[in-house]
Amino acid sequence: MVNESVRRLQSFVDGAYIDGVSSWEKRSPVDGSLVAVVEEAGAEQVDAAVAAARRALEGPWGRSSVAERAALMRRIADRIEARFDDFVAAEIGDTGKPLKQARELDVARAVVNFRSFADTVSATGLDSFLTELADGRRALNYAVPRPLGVVAVVVPWNLPLLLLTWKVAPALACGNAVIVKPSEETPSTATLLAEVIAEAGAPAGIYNVLHGFGPGSAGEMLTTHPDIDGVTFTGESATGAAIMRGVAPYVRPVSFELGGKNAALVFADADLEKAVAGLGRSIFTNTGQVCLCTERVYIQRPVYDEVVAGLVEHARGLRLGRPEAEGTTTGPLISREHRAKVHGYLDLAREDGADVLVGGGIPDLGADLADGAWIEPTLWAGLDHSSRVLREEVFGPVAALMPFDSEDEAVKLANDSRYGLAAATWTSDLERGHRVAQQMRVGMSWVNTWYLRDLRSPFGGVGLSGIGREGGTHSMHFYTEPTNVCVQL
Ligand code: NAD
Repeated sequence: MVNESVRRLQSFVDGAYIDGVSSWEKRSPVDGSLVAVVEEAGAEQVDAAVAAARRALEGPWGRSSVAERAALMRRIADRIEARFDDFVAAEIGDTGKPLKQARELDVARAVVNFRSFADTVSATGLDSFLTELADGRRALNYAVPRPLGVVAVVVPWNLPLLLLTWKVAPALACGNAVIVKPSEETPSTATLLAEVIAEAGAPAGIYNVLHGFGPGSAGEMLTTHPDIDGVTFTGESATGAAIMRGVAPYVRPVSFELGGKNAALVFADADLEKAVAGLGRSIFTNTGQVCLCTERVYIQRPVYDEVVAGLVEHARGLRLGRPEAEGTTTGPLISREHRAKVHGYLDLAREDGADVLVGGGIPDLGADLADGAWIEPTLWAGLDHSSRVLREEVFGPVAALMPFDSEDEAVKLANDSRYGLAAATWTSDLERGHRVAQQMRVGMSWVNTWYLRDLRSPFGGVGLSGIGREGGTHSMHFYTEPTNVCVQL
């Protein structure tokens, strides 16, 4: 069904929207209705974007000052705020996420991303050393940060605008030119951002958007293009591996924020009310489609039954529904394809002997939503640690609950994963909180909270969860190449 609000989304190259080589239909995961017709970029558009970005770097943008770039980042933040409702509507149209979340997390964070990196780039000094050699020679060494160059930014669909701006803001603040490849599932906000960045006074060519898919399409064509200088990618670990193979012949720097299979540890001394509320958030936010979401919960045996009961009650209290509907807490999964994957894990959990405590299937939300990608929030008990359900990232509103006895056992179980993105420890014992959090083999380890972020702190993962860190000066390091100047005095 085509309605009047269906838009045609084009790629954005060198300051103008352009057609592609074919198109696809973006459908709403809420009810299957048509959201947009998206123009798919081909090799010619990819070449044009890379050439435009290179030209921009060779023009005035390449000689811009930190102060000018910081001011542009602030103007972009202001422009996003001015078009806040348009961004919220675009994000909801693509993802079906609840209105409250789109407002308070996704779009709000996009604004903060630009302001935060304006601050960081303004405050970052130079590394310098006054060198005194044994033979009496003296020298001044200082490292001048130069932009990395033309940066490919490839991002996923779960927090589309938030994750996109998390990379675009520092990249531009450091003086790069970017070519963004948003997910084929969420093309809208990146396209709108092009308009806003241009309105804020950005020179043509520093922010380009290519729509398309991964293999054999714009994603692969961009990351394997001979004239880009680096790739920053957020998405699945297997995609990261494919991109790594693609860039290997060019020896290109990569920053990878990949998947997770995150654990939470609940100790018997925890404030259980806070722990259950926090776990409810960490399991079910964005229908479990946040890389940081908890999918494994280890609960100390004396409080196991109480925590399980609390979480089941929390899951039963979630309200699935249209994003704008009063009281909706939970949206659909991103697509029917993704639902089939998540559903496969629901089946597998049953085959592996899981006790399904709540959920476990596809909900009946009426004819109106029957063509959406809905799934029930699901909790399991009784799964063996070797089950694939506990080893692989599901990326849905699901978690396995398991008892433990000792702190050592809990730490060992939490670290028994090839992923290493995030962990959360719930305890009232201050020393235990620090001790356990530090032993987590992850990039982000929270105590008595989850997804509380300071954008200056390092963000990333170990193992299958990624390569490198972004955030604050960590982003500055990735998006610049230092040239060390040594002057003998
Ligand atoms: P995905 O890897 O399928 O796709 C991500 C992007 O890569 C899309 O734009 C896609 O078109 C593109 N792509 C796919 N194959 C490609 C290829 N061969 N070459 C170049 N580009 C290619 O991921 P997704 O399903 O969109 O997102 C969900 C995943 O993202 C989950 O695994 C989640 O954990 C992860 N994620 C990680 C973080 C983090 O910060 N660590 C944050 C959010 C999401």
